[in-house]
Amino acid sequence: MGKATDIEINNEYYKNLVTQRVQEDAGLWEEIRGCGLSFVYADGAATSKVILIGEAPGKDEVRCGKPFSGKAGAILDEILEKTGIARDDLYITNTVKYRLAANGSRPGTLKNRPVKSQEIIYGLDWLKHEIETIRPALIITLGNVSLKAILLLKKCAIMSVSACHGKAQNIRIGDADSILVPLYHPASQIYNHDLRQVFEEDFYYIRTLYSTILQEEK
Ligand code: URA
Repeated sequence: MGKATDIEINNEYYKNLVTQRVQEDAGLWEEIRGCGLSFVYADGAATSKVILIGEAPGKDEVRCGKPFSGKAGAILDEILEKTGIARDDLYITNTVKYRLAANGSRPGTLKNRPVKSQEIIYGLDWLKHEIETIRPALIITLGNVSLKAILLLKKCAIMSVSACHGKAQNIRIGDADSILVPLYHPASQIYNHDLRQVFEEDFYYIRTLYSTILQEEK
């Protein structure tokens, strides 16, 4: 099975496009230029039926060169194992594909920062290209940032994940028909333990949907 990241997704092209857009945004570039742009591409199979979309890579992801390889990734891996979904069967990407870095308190250090709305917008073409290439049966957004990106792509009103998590809706992106299920971000349960059970329940629903999709393919 080939890696979509190697053979089909035009990562270099979009990396240059996003870099150019960020650098042309004088206000944004002024704020973040000292932090550099450390990109991490998606990970997953070209044949994946499911695409998982996070927010942005962090320090661990930049070190490993792979999305969801830090704390949030450990939570994701745990729930995937519990629900019997193989990570290798998924295409895992991020809304913003570079670390959202700001200068840390000590010179030469970086810390994470919140995404800016325009950064979501600058990455939309790349995300759309990924979805149109993978043509997933199921799109899972993790948290508010990726949900916002998908709603922007669809030119829909922005909703909070708390209002629509775990609810499936049909969605067409380009000429790809999918089912969208927004979920909480795995990291949200680090700060709010009550979300753990919600996340688990939603993920069991994903398991059911995924089984149906695989069944229908036979
Ligand atoms: N790691 C990622 O790759 N994405 C996130 O949204 C969080 C952690």
